[in-house]
Amino acid sequence: MKAVRFHEHGGLEKLRYEDVPEPQPGPGEVVVRVRACALNYLDLWERRGLPGIQLPLPHISGSDVAGIVESTGPGVANCKPGDKSIVCPGLSCMQCEFCYLGKDNLCRSYSVLGYYSDGGYAELVKIPAVNVMPYPERLSFTDAAAVPLVFLTAWHMLVDRCGIQAGEDVLVLGAGSGVGSAAIQVAKFFHARVITTASSDMKLARARESGADHVIDLSKRKIRDEVKRITGKKGVDIVFEHIGAATWVESLSSLAHHGRLVICGATTGYDVHLDLRHLFAKQISVMGSYMGARHELLKVLRLVEEGHLRPVVSSVFPLQDAAKAQAQMENREHFGKIVLLVDR
Ligand SMILES: [Zn+2]
Repeated sequence: MKAVRFHEHGGLEKLRYEDVPEPQPGPGEVVVRVRACALNYLDLWERRGLPGIQLPLPHISGSDVAGIVESTGPGVANCKPGDKSIVCPGLSCMQCEFCYLGKDNLCRSYSVLGYYSDGGYAELVKIPAVNVMPYPERLSFTDAAAVPLVFLTAWHMLVDRCGIQAGEDVLVLGAGSGVGSAAIQVAKFFHARVITTASSDMKLARARESGADHVIDLSKRKIRDEVKRITGKKGVDIVFEHIGAATWVESLSSLAHHGRLVICGATTGYDVHLDLRHLFAKQISVMGSYMGARHELLKVLRLVEEGHLRPVVSSVFPLQDAAKAQAQMENREHFGKIVLLVDR
């Protein structure tokens, strides 16, 4: 089959479109013919290399897959060849305390498809059969691939970690990112008031269309000043963070008393300062979040099927142009998800 792999870490030039052996399904596994695979920021980290993390090389990235079941291994009963499939990106042991509790993203062996395992930048991908999820029939493969990772992440952050309530004020950073555009929709689904940020005319306009109540133009305004103005000096109840070092101070300063900050990533850097006086005096909660549980993805897919949540696709590239697609993500020229389309 054809796949896009890198044999060593580095820049975009390390991505190679080449022939690789086809995966074969073992017991409890299925092979899915990939029709679309969405990019995530994780793909960039994998290619560049992460300190202290040893990925098996050569490596195929890609966590968000929509396609058709090609073949099944022994003992698979939940799907058959020919079934349309949307793939749950979280991999876990399914037999530990957390997995039994339905908190599989806390499993000690939890991983994301395409991280330590080969992912969806390929014509075929091998996954555990339990990761085959019900396909939202009205969606194209491109739209379906744009759903799992970002909506699962945004849902877990706002619903499970923060317990979002109707009428709360939520600051979603980075409206143009995949996870930001998903978070705006999840927060609006819970009838929150959403303030978001964007940095170009195109993104400002798209952010308003996406349902946000207020959009802060980062080229003109400081986040905390605008948040204070919009909320009558109160601050927001929830800050949805995934940017890290570049926005950390503004994020903390934007919180109301008893507010909670939830963070799932740090694309601009990990090392930040935390003034503990603010933490206790304002009774703030700072929470980490990573992916989400399988049952949460089922809920998300049902809401997508019913039209309450809509995938946001920014652009589509053929598989062989994966480097161009990653370049667009690096240059932050996108609004929503960038998707690779795989021809038969
Ligand atoms: Zn487990």
